[in-house]
Amino acid sequence: MILLFLGTGGAWGVPELGCDCRICQEMRLREERRGRTALLLQSGSTLLIDCGPDISVQLSRHNIGRPDAVLVTHEHGDHYIGMDEFLAFQRIRPRGEFSAIPFFMTGPAWELIGRQFGYLEKLGVIRAQPVVPEEKFRVNEFEIMAFKTAHGSFGQGSVGYMIRTLDKDGKEVRIVYTSDFSDIPEPPPDLSSPDYLIVQSYWFNEPAQNTPGHMSFQRALDFLQLLKPRKETFLVHIGDCDLIPGDPANGMAKKRDPLDPLKPPGSKVPYPVPRHQEEWQRVVNRILEDYRLPYKCTVAYDGLSVEI
Ligand SMILES: [Zn+2]
Ligand SMILES: [Zn+2]
Repeated sequence: MILLFLGTGGAWGVPELGCDCRICQEMRLREERRGRTALLLQSGSTLLIDCGPDISVQLSRHNIGRPDAVLVTHEHGDHYIGMDEFLAFQRIRPRGEFSAIPFFMTGPAWELIGRQFGYLEKLGVIRAQPVVPEEKFRVNEFEIMAFKTAHGSFGQGSVGYMIRTLDKDGKEVRIVYTSDFSDIPEPPPDLSSPDYLIVQSYWFNEPAQNTPGHMSFQRALDFLQLLKPRKETFLVHIGDCDLIPGDPANGMAKKRDPLDPLKPPGSKVPYPVPRHQEEWQRVVNRILEDYRLPYKCTVAYDGLSVEI
């Protein structure tokens, strides 16, 4: 069973188009790039979570064919706008031999997405499959349950997914994928103590103004302690909206002042805001150690493949 992190960036990817902030500058220097967040689960079958505008490049980079199913977390472009690309899988099959790919999402999400991509259903490329939070369903060896996440007034159809399947040793594992969210209003019991947790860290520090409802690493620490993942946590959907002291780009509309930046215990000096992968992983390790949080937390990067 493989977790393949196809993309790990925020809505516009990082470095962002036209942005010369210190984070984007540093990542360009290091030739690092985070495409829009998408995850592939591969065992006997292939399950894809989300398909943003980078999906064609992401799938072809790893030579991935038609997925058995796609789970869409919500109706924001960075999570579904690549749906048209799935036509390619129909085009390469002999005429009439393609079976539609089931796309799972909530009713409110399909209401919006269907207006744009309803033709894919008429063409037989996709089959929209409504999901109801807390109702379980199966895709081959995966047992799946959507759960409601709060992601602001423009993300009403937003859900995370709990996936139960077998690991490489044939033992049952539970994976919780939270997607874009600022809260889980009523976490169902199936979410507690998962084996693996995938959580967004759109900001490093919780911003004074958390719009449009994303998770910062600072706040994700609360969810780590609430959900208590047993084996490993992966950070995804990482953005570039934190302030770096002295950066002339701090006045950009996307940059946010921190509410009360993360500091070491008993210190008044905040942790440095990470600019690239190595700094992210280093500061995350330091914080978990400083606060004695017994969790393994990996900052995911594009192309990271983990056998579980
Ligand atoms: Zn997003
Ligand atoms: Zn979103």
